[in-house]
Amino acid sequence: MKLEGVLPFARTLLRSFCEEGDIVIDATCGNGNDTLFLSKLVGESGHVFAFDIQEHAIENSKQRLVDHHANHNVTFYHASHDELTTQLPSDLHTKVTAAIFNLGYLPGSDKSITTTGSSTIGAIEQLLQLLKPEGVIILVIYHGHEEGKREKELVMNYVKQLDQKQAHVLQYEFINQKNDPPFVVAIEKRG
Ligand code: SAM
Repeated sequence: MKLEGVLPFARTLLRSFCEEGDIVIDATCGNGNDTLFLSKLVGESGHVFAFDIQEHAIENSKQRLVDHHANHNVTFYHASHDELTTQLPSDLHTKVTAAIFNLGYLPGSDKSITTTGSSTIGAIEQLLQLLKPEGVIILVIYHGHEEGKREKELVMNYVKQLDQKQAHVLQYEFINQKNDPPFVVAIEKRG
């Protein structure tokens, strides 16, 4: 298949928006795959702020970074992403280039601990303030589980009503796949 899959597409977007030295956010660090990717992307002079509400997710992510010698430019918060504004150093407000949300539950872990529409929307609202102009928020939306269906509906209703003078909103999705495949929503803050 030459069409890019959903997860590679999310990374292609991150690559096209970010460069060395940038400030970026992993809003759901889980096992640290995106955190590691972002750490390499922004390099020594950049910084990644990574959030998760599960202590063992933070520990797994920290270990992944140590294993790849990439732990020098990441700060972890054992906190919900809707606490972004209070957690992030205030001198970095309006300096964030990109944020990624891999929604849902941590694979291989407690499936009842999952992202929810209200905290995801709360975090997006804050990020629209924290992002620099032409910064991006990327959501990978998993809606195969019950909470994921509710979250998808709430988040999609919210992003669709964003003022087009404030943000460009894109959806990238395979529409003939079975079993509720994940899809990407990208929100670019306008300059
Ligand atoms: N990106 C991760 C990776 O590379 O392994 C996978 C993320 S997993 C699909 C979703 C994660 O979101 C879980 O680890 C879960 O604990 C976390 N989560 C759920 N609600 C959250 C919230 N309100 N704030 C931050 N993280 C949350």
